[in-house]
Amino acid sequence: MPELLEIEAYRRLVRGALGRAIAGIDAPDAWYLKGGLGAGDLGAVLGGRRFVADRRVGKLLLLDVDGGTTLGLRFGMTGVLEVDGAVAIERLEYSSARRDPAWDRFVVRFVDGGELRMRDPRRLGGVELDPDEGDLGIDALDLTLAGLRGRLVGSRAPLKARLMDQRRIAGLGNLLTDEILWRAGLDPARPAGSLTPAELRRLHRHLDRTLAELGARGGSHTGDLQESRSRDGVCPRDGTPLTRRTIGGRTTYSCPVHQR
Ligand SMILES: [Zn+2]
Repeated sequence: MPELLEIEAYRRLVRGALGRAIAGIDAPDAWYLKGGLGAGDLGAVLGGRRFVADRRVGKLLLLDVDGGTTLGLRFGMTGVLEVDGAVAIERLEYSSARRDPAWDRFVVRFVDGGELRMRDPRRLGGVELDPDEGDLGIDALDLTLAGLRGRLVGSRAPLKARLMDQRRIAGLGNLLTDEILWRAGLDPARPAGSLTPAELRRLHRHLDRTLAELGARGGSHTGDLQESRSRDGVCPRDGTPLTRRTIGGRTTYSCPVHQR
């Protein structure tokens, strides 16, 4: 699913849509418009306007519109962004490379003939006007060591669930979190508040490095653990069969030997 790294790539792509006059929208899937928004209302708000700035908080992509409103785009499990027919990421884990017109959920048409398009096979994403950004925690790319400590301390929740809690830290999904914890040698099921100061520093260091490395490689699915995420997968570090569990509602792979 698109995580922080994918949405960051979408954000770079969507810069190509800034400053262009909007002709109108197509919203073939009314369910994709959230917050009681109708296609007619949204078309009236955006028609004749321009996107003037791109922002991102965690997995939420924001486009500020001249005149003061903000369009929020959420990509759920399988959402893909296209601008003028170009995509930011060719391969999206869990999604499909096929292009079925039935998966087109939302389109912004520009006066110049180009367009911004959201495709979403499983339609768990959505479009919203002026989304509540206050619901989201700090973006994972901006997380300091002290900020990380403050979000874990005192918590008995599983470490992985706490890291994926978007109200506390925004942007980390299933693949990134498994990769970070595997690299840091930490058991995803440990109580989040049980980390020692040295373990916290290690987690923060690997969080930073993992985001930088996988961002450079091209996305959340490029981690060193990725190829082993299967029922008979073994740890790439020590060859131990991986443990497969559900933690925080998500299928979790970890090494019973070096993740403690
Ligand atoms: Zn291992």
